[in-house]
Amino acid sequence: MQPDLLPDVIAIDGPAASGKSTIGLMLAQRLGYLCLDTGSMYRALTLAAILKGISPDNENDITRLASDCDLAIIPLSGETDGRHYTVMLNGVDVTWDLRSPQVDAAVSQVSTYPGVRSRMVERQRAVGRRGRVVMIGRDIGTVVMPDAGLKLYITASPEERARRRLIDRVRQGNDDEYQSILADVVRRDQMDGSRVLSPMRPAVDAITIDTTGRSAEVVIEEIMSILNLNHFQPEGRA
Ligand code: C5P
Repeated sequence: MQPDLLPDVIAIDGPAASGKSTIGLMLAQRLGYLCLDTGSMYRALTLAAILKGISPDNENDITRLASDCDLAIIPLSGETDGRHYTVMLNGVDVTWDLRSPQVDAAVSQVSTYPGVRSRMVERQRAVGRRGRVVMIGRDIGTVVMPDAGLKLYITASPEERARRRLIDRVRQGNDDEYQSILADVVRRDQMDGSRVLSPMRPAVDAITIDTTGRSAEVVIEEIMSILNLNHFQPEGRA
């Protein structure tokens, strides 16, 4: 694939903590693309509900909140605290709050509601239409951007995903336990993969990449060779 034939939209789907966010951001930076991690949108809505005291079971109020809350995802501009982007909820930076165990526990329930999904998908497609975007989620290649020029399904064993999530959480100063993280990862896989609407699954034309035991750098090189771009640098980069 020549640089001028790069896909306008690259869809990256996969289960919780499979490395898809890290890989998606690195790929976007290599290509000079925008990176949209759609999980952060569902997480921000879940956090908004928690802050308002709305139960994750309250479909009506959560669906209303999906239209009412002011949510913005802002690309990096020099932050060095390990974030991949900044998420503003009603004008407040909630980037790190999105990763709390409380949000982990409720987000898959919130994400099942049809009214929530249609609102989120509408916003995601608006970003996709602008082009030059790496979009990360569970249903990007199947539902949100089914015409994406490249679809990747990034996965890893549950144990490896839990280990990676634990390292992230400890780095952020939390003292979570491996077993509870593993249980959450397995529970979310089950919920996300079995829901009626837009279940997590690889698109029929997706390339599946198993990242178990492999570094993000190695996986990026594999993706660059899929794109036939091993020596590609975007404009403006040395
Ligand atoms: O990717 P991340 O773990 O941040 O996603 C959090 C949750 O958001 C997922 O477990 C899933 O329930 C939901 N989600 C979704 N569709 C997407 C992205 C995330 O349902 N496109």
